[in-house]
Amino acid sequence: MINHDRHLIDGEWRATPAVAHTIVRDSATEEAVAKVSHGGPADIAAAVKAARSAFVPWSSTPVAERAAFIRAIADQLEQRTEEMTSSVTAEVGMPLKLSRRIQIQAPIAAWRTTADAAGDALADARLGNSIVTKAAVGVVAAITPWNYPLHQITGKLAAALAAGCCVVLKPSELAPSVAQALGEAIIASGLPKGVVNIVFGDGATGEALVAHPDVDMVSFTGSTAVGRRIASAAGQALKRVALELGGKSASIALRGADPAIVARHAVSSCLLNSGQTCSAITRLVVPQEEYDVYRGLLKTAVEKMRVGDPRDSDTRVGPLVSAEQKKRVEAFISEALEQKFDVISVGGDDAAPTKGFYVEPAIFGRVPIASRLAQEEVFGPVLTVQTYSTDEEAVEIANGTPYGLAGAVWGASAEQAQSVAQRMRAGQIDVNGAPYNAAAPFGGFGSSGIGREGGGYGIEEFIELRSIQIPAAAAS
Ligand code: NAD
Repeated sequence: MINHDRHLIDGEWRATPAVAHTIVRDSATEEAVAKVSHGGPADIAAAVKAARSAFVPWSSTPVAERAAFIRAIADQLEQRTEEMTSSVTAEVGMPLKLSRRIQIQAPIAAWRTTADAAGDALADARLGNSIVTKAAVGVVAAITPWNYPLHQITGKLAAALAAGCCVVLKPSELAPSVAQALGEAIIASGLPKGVVNIVFGDGATGEALVAHPDVDMVSFTGSTAVGRRIASAAGQALKRVALELGGKSASIALRGADPAIVARHAVSSCLLNSGQTCSAITRLVVPQEEYDVYRGLLKTAVEKMRVGDPRDSDTRVGPLVSAEQKKRVEAFISEALEQKFDVISVGGDDAAPTKGFYVEPAIFGRVPIASRLAQEEVFGPVLTVQTYSTDEEAVEIANGTPYGLAGAVWGASAEQAQSVAQRMRAGQIDVNGAPYNAAAPFGGFGSSGIGREGGGYGIEEFIELRSIQIPAAAAS
């Protein structure tokens, strides 16, 4: 069992008496694989102090040098790819092959994308007799979830470091291993001490960090409920907040779209990481007269998605992160079964594993927009299908939840789909299966959050604009 019993403070791993512990279980075997010691207020105070001391020198370091450190961290992370892949698979349950590419290699690439974007994002601008400069916000509290742990840490840390901020990271207590590897990568990269500090712990540790008076900004990714709580605490102290929260994203199939492609995409997006993806497509919106066609295609597609051991190369759907998450998702499925929606698929595979936090995928059709299943984030392998008669109604259904994180639109042509995408109240929308772009801004409308991560836009979250008015003679 791995012990995460030291915090990275002022450039060194420090062991302090823990205020509490979390036991992390392998999601497929249920065996204890790690023990996380929770930091308390004294650890938070030491970490914030180290970050504050490092702030003036780090924010005064030229952007190109900061970008070079970001690339050095990426190089160090790359050397730890295999160790991080297997530990994320154990903690979160994503199949190994997908974990390597999506959980580890993609975020390492994002460290480099952020370094590349820094020069342009932070350049001064001239506006008449003003020079607009970009100052780092200050000391940032970064609080992250477990589902894509390195990805979510990267979205905050790489951008904050590029902007010249210093950081105290409080990673998820359920997926601590990449934060440990990152701490080691940071030390090996030679980053000046105190620029990044890592305090392990749970919600209480996070709350102490948010409340610390010397934190200037809180950048949080996690549930909408915790995001609200953090925003209230930060609001009282007038701290800047950036919130990446939950989602209930819809895929609209316009008339003329290819149902076979749309159905396959909906199933694979919804089941990625066993549905534990904030931007997952969890609602498919189809023309009413094509419902039966989609129903058949979805059933076939989901039956092909093998549920099983995430270390097995044939597995497409692994277990969920924890017993608690499994219970929560199963409660949604039981409630949906009681509602008498059209059950398109609900598991029942005799070969499905009996040990581990597995939930077999479920698809429910003709789900009314007002139902809990169509409104709330399940965070598990559950897809709902809704029908529409006009394009206006399709957009209304897609926009008809408090969330607005992501979405997809499929049409006979990209132009047709793009015009519908423009009407969707969501932060990132894929047209006709277009690929992910790490340099594009990612974030939510409404209850999905405030602010954006990714590329240059992500760096802008961590800056204050400063206008310097210069005399006419100097301006000419
Ligand atoms: P969570 O909100 O329970 O926890 C997230 C982090 O906040 C953890 O580190 C946790 O220890 C900490 N925390 C909990 N209570 C806190 C408090 N009161 N004060 C400060 N910190 C606190 O979320 P989770 O279960 O880890 O992650 C799943 C959720 O995250 C889902 O809702 C998902 O949609 C969302 N998410 C959003 C995005 C996005 O980019 N929009 C990405 C991934 C996950």
